[in-house]
Amino acid sequence: MMELALLSLAPAAGLLAAYPRRTWGAVAVAVAAGLGSIAACLLCGPGERRLAAAVGLWSVAGALYAIHLCRREVQDCGHVHEKVRQLKVRRVETAKAAAEARAQGEETQRSHKESAALYAMVKGLSAALSWEEIKPRLETAVDQYLGVADFALYVAGRPPRSTWRVDRGGSRAEDDFQPLASRNLASSPGGAWVTLGRRLQEAALSPWQAHVLDRPERALCVPVIDNAELLGVFYVRLPDAADPRALLAKASAFAGEVAFAFRRVKLFQEMERLSEIDGVTGVHRRGAFDERLGEEVVRARTFKTTFCLMLLDIDHFKSLNDRYGHPFGDQVLRRIGEILNHSFYETDFVARYGGEEFGVILPRAQYDGARRKAEAVRNAIEFESFPIALETVRVTVSIGLAHFPRDAAAPEELFSQADLALYRAKSLGRNRVVEFTG
Ligand code: GH3
Ligand code: MG
Ligand code: MG
Repeated sequence: MMELALLSLAPAAGLLAAYPRRTWGAVAVAVAAGLGSIAACLLCGPGERRLAAAVGLWSVAGALYAIHLCRREVQDCGHVHEKVRQLKVRRVETAKAAAEARAQGEETQRSHKESAALYAMVKGLSAALSWEEIKPRLETAVDQYLGVADFALYVAGRPPRSTWRVDRGGSRAEDDFQPLASRNLASSPGGAWVTLGRRLQEAALSPWQAHVLDRPERALCVPVIDNAELLGVFYVRLPDAADPRALLAKASAFAGEVAFAFRRVKLFQEMERLSEIDGVTGVHRRGAFDERLGEEVVRARTFKTTFCLMLLDIDHFKSLNDRYGHPFGDQVLRRIGEILNHSFYETDFVARYGGEEFGVILPRAQYDGARRKAEAVRNAIEFESFPIALETVRVTVSIGLAHFPRDAAAPEELFSQADLALYRAKSLGRNRVVEFTG
């Protein structure tokens, strides 16, 4: 009886042994209960055998149920674990995708910024029609598009100021390069064409090709080429963190735009040269002046008339440029051009024949009348105010006069007599009118 009572505890023992997920414990109890009930059936008398078998079956069923519960629990736990693992994987993937999206966003933003800078550069450069206009636009483009601070741009074979073209002393060798814009390169080989040109020559590098230089500093040297013509050279000192190849690609695109801009300036200058009116002063150009002087001599000879040639040179103009800058000098030239244009008759001919030198042809002018007119012009310019910042600048001119046919029989001779008179006006102290006296 005692054994049967113990056997009847088997299901409870099975459940206990299996808790929480020990299937092997429940199996052990089921096996023990089965063996126990068989033993009880063998040992018990016929009267108790049935009872023993029933208790045994009950115990085995209880233990099997415990096994079942246990397995279900294990299965459920497995599912939960799998779910947790999947969630973890998804979380890592989501974080990765978010990082990728962020990087892509940054890249888009960067390339958008770059396109905007490229557009601004192209727009800015395409609107420039003179070297003076190109310079600040180039500096902005280098800043915004290339993002470099130290650079120099050299222009091949021509002075960087378009208005100097009329200056008689302006010829330069074709292989010479003039700086158009330069920044922060005082102690660099790129700071002057003499040193940069020599360095390229020493390293056997052609200025016609783009180079990444390592010594004495990391730099790029990129040609500005248009129509198989070397128009300039662009030198950039590389920032420490810069990738030379990437910057070289951008600098080459930049040089392409610069070449277009240079070509446009050249074409515009050519157009200006072909036109008769000087762009700065609004009076005639040297070519038209020479032509008119020749014609006037022929006319005066044919009709036995006279005319006066007046040459006018601004006093101390070089120091005015040095003190207030060339743009201010150009403003003064423009205003003097206006004064001259308004001071003479329609039949007179006003021209700019040098940097700050003007010539006027006054057909049929009497000696006295021409002198009085020259004096009036000199006076008008002397009392004209040229404001700059808080200052008011005064400018004077010297004037030389010569008459045809009294002083000369040919145009060149007449010009040199008037020039002589002008030279005398200068040597007598400037700000005066002097007539050629032979
Ligand atoms: P002087 O009284 O003897 O005439 O003295 P100056 O300084 O005027 O001497 P000079 O006539 O030799 O100097 C001419 C100067 O004019 C040289 C150059 O700096 C300036 N110049 C020539 N062309 C231009 C121009 O297109 N624009 C400006 N701003 N300056 C010019
Ligand atoms: Mg002069
Ligand atoms: Mg002068």
